Amino acid sequence: QAKEAKRSACVLYSLEMEKDGRVRYELETELRRAIEMDDFMVYYQAIVDSKTHKVTSFEALIRWQHRDQGFIPPSVFIPIAEDVGLINEIGLFVLKRVINDLDYLKETFGSSIQVSVNLSPNQLKDSELTDYLSALVASEPSITQYMVLEIIESVFVDDASVHRIERLRAMGFLISLDDFGTGFSSLSHISRMPIDILKIDQSFVSKMFDTERDQKLLKNIVTIAKDLDLKTIAEGVETEGQQALLSAIGCSSLQGYLFARPVPIESLDVSLLSSKVSEQS
Ligand code: C2E
Ligand code: MG
Ligand code: MG
Ligand code: MG
Repeated sequence: QAKEAKRSACVLYSLEMEKDGRVRYELETELRRAIEMDDFMVYYQAIVDSKTHKVTSFEALIRWQHRDQGFIPPSVFIPIAEDVGLINEIGLFVLKRVINDLDYLKETFGSSIQVSVNLSPNQLKDSELTDYLSALVASEPSITQYMVLEIIESVFVDDASVHRIERLRAMGFLISLDDFGTGFSSLSHISRMPIDILKIDQSFVSKMFDTERDQKLLKNIVTIAKDLDLKTIAEGVETEGQQALLSAIGCSSLQGYLFARPVPIESLDVSLLSSKVSEQS
């Protein structure tokens, strides 16, 4: 009996695996097609100053509108793009689109505006990205003051990648450490990283009011970041309570649905007048 149950569990498991494999394969094929058909878009989400609530920057977030499956979230397709070696191409698409949109963003939101772009750790594994950016900076030196590059801490396990980050930072790009608090990095590591901004992950923000300890931890992260001359951005701010406390403990900027959702560039001015506008997806 037990043996039988074990066997059918095995069969079920491999059926699941097969299904997963098929889904992955289909997604991979579709990803290649999406690149050819230009089905990717870049949405922008505002980041506001915690005191004035004025927009200081935007985060560029990729969107994939599949012709019959609708929007497929980046959390689903980015890992697959990384696995199958398509992330460099997709990453460059986002970067080029953002660079194209910069003039409009400056005109609309003022010339102190900045845009942050997410970089996959894979994009730092070879020199394609850094070559592209250094050529860009050579022809347009002022571009670095408008751009922030968001990386995650796993980048720091690879020496060559760290070296590339240092080079990009030396060129003038601001470097932001995304999703802080989800990995293993401690504050002692942060002090040695070539970064300018610390983005506190939304998991911290969402449990901020759970316990006193959570709140103390958050407060200390912000304080230490400040001591290290790092700007802090809290992600996933959804309530006025979170906003008030984050601003009280000295977090410099806030990002979240409370202020704005990610929207296409055409909808930006509208979305900033009202935080109730929903993401068009
Ligand atoms: P991330 O870089 O940490 O981006 C923040 C995510 O939080 C975005 O999800 C954003 O829509 C979401 N978010 C913002 N405010 C709130 C809020 O108040 N509540 C909640 N629940 N969520 C909020 P999104 O756009 O689905 O992106 C997910 C992740 O996919 C990103 O996390 C990033 O890791 C990755 N990603 C997105 N675009 C790109 C890209 O162009 N290149 C690369 N390599 N990765 C990207
Ligand atoms: Mg990010
Ligand atoms: Mg994040
Ligand atoms: Mg994330």
